[in-house]
Amino acid sequence: LTSKLPDVGTSIFSVMTQLAQEHEAINLAQGFPDYDPPRPLLEALARHVLTPGHQQYAPMPGLPRLREAISHQTALRYGYTPDPATEITVTSGATEGLYAVMAAVVRPGDEVLLLEPAYDLYAPAVRLQGGVPVYVPLAAPNFRPDWDRVAAALSPRTRLVLINSPHNPTGAVLSAADLDTLAGLLRDTDALLLSDEVYEHMVFDGAAHNSVSAHPELRARAFVLSSFGKTYHATGWKVGYCLAPPALTAELRRVHQFITFSVSTPTQHALADVLPDAALYESLPAFYQQKRDLLRELLAPTGFELLPSGGGYFQVASFKNLAPGLDDVTFSRRLTQESGVAVVPLSAFYHNGHDAQLVRFCFAKTEATLRAAAARLVDLK
Ligand code: PMP
Ligand code: GLN
Repeated sequence: LTSKLPDVGTSIFSVMTQLAQEHEAINLAQGFPDYDPPRPLLEALARHVLTPGHQQYAPMPGLPRLREAISHQTALRYGYTPDPATEITVTSGATEGLYAVMAAVVRPGDEVLLLEPAYDLYAPAVRLQGGVPVYVPLAAPNFRPDWDRVAAALSPRTRLVLINSPHNPTGAVLSAADLDTLAGLLRDTDALLLSDEVYEHMVFDGAAHNSVSAHPELRARAFVLSSFGKTYHATGWKVGYCLAPPALTAELRRVHQFITFSVSTPTQHALADVLPDAALYESLPAFYQQKRDLLRELLAPTGFELLPSGGGYFQVASFKNLAPGLDDVTFSRRLTQESGVAVVPLSAFYHNGHDAQLVRFCFAKTEATLRAAAARLVDLK
């Protein structure tokens, strides 16, 4: 059998998690919380698991009551009320949503513009459709898009532009002006937009999340993805959703129905129960900012040099003073094996293995975990 993705190994998140387990290292590599979802959500799930009639297939686009709750929350947060019938699709995590969007719109030879570093599934999902990823670099330390380079990379073959704010792995966030600039660039093109907003509730330092959902011009050509896994500390539930105008949603659902058909029923009921409680997600910016600040404070005395992190789950750090000349994959392995702290090498987010001696720490961890990890790193100088 000839592989369709011969150059792709196992996802770096699985690799580092396995290495962490083998060496009993503290896992600050894979992005998942080491604390549980809010109690009311767990109780709601228990209730629905015990409710006769809630254990069979949900409707293909998602439970109506969950789509209605998503519509209502979107209206409150972004001033736009997507139609639950034609503009909201519940997906098996943002992962399935991303894949379904690519499968729905990318044809062989179509170009998909990715800002790099990029989340690891984007490029393989494009290539599996016969699409061609076109990479525009984001430059350290701020990893802000250079819109002139984006403009230069657009072509008549550009089918899709992918943005991700707050950004994995860098924590960069897009401003309202960024979205306006992008709208101007796309105005006279046929390109669609895919906006990965799974970290929408984690923006720090008083800044707002600038959602494509709140931008009428952009959202008219956009798929906007979110993940309940991130919002409710329930990454293992694998439930997310995609907002898109009716014509785009229709194409998405054509594919979604044949990837997974529908998403698990009791989890959707449980999420529909708690979604109206805005306090649960309104607390997230402060909750995660505190974790970011703690990790930064704990790493400050070490030889790591910290880059900015404006949102999301992640803190990028340079190890150039700790291990001059060492590549980031070797450094990450050694840190896991010898210091007992697992991180992700940033080269994993680049198609050509670009290595700037940077690693990613996940701070979606309890204070005790972050302190224990830092205690293992203090002697690194
Ligand atoms: N996009 C980004 C940027 C992510 O970080 C993640 C999760 N790690 C996903 C998509 C996938 O989300 P989900 O877990 O809901 O499939
Ligand atoms: N998004 C998570 C991360 O960036 C991992 C998700 C996964 O393991 N697929 O670490």
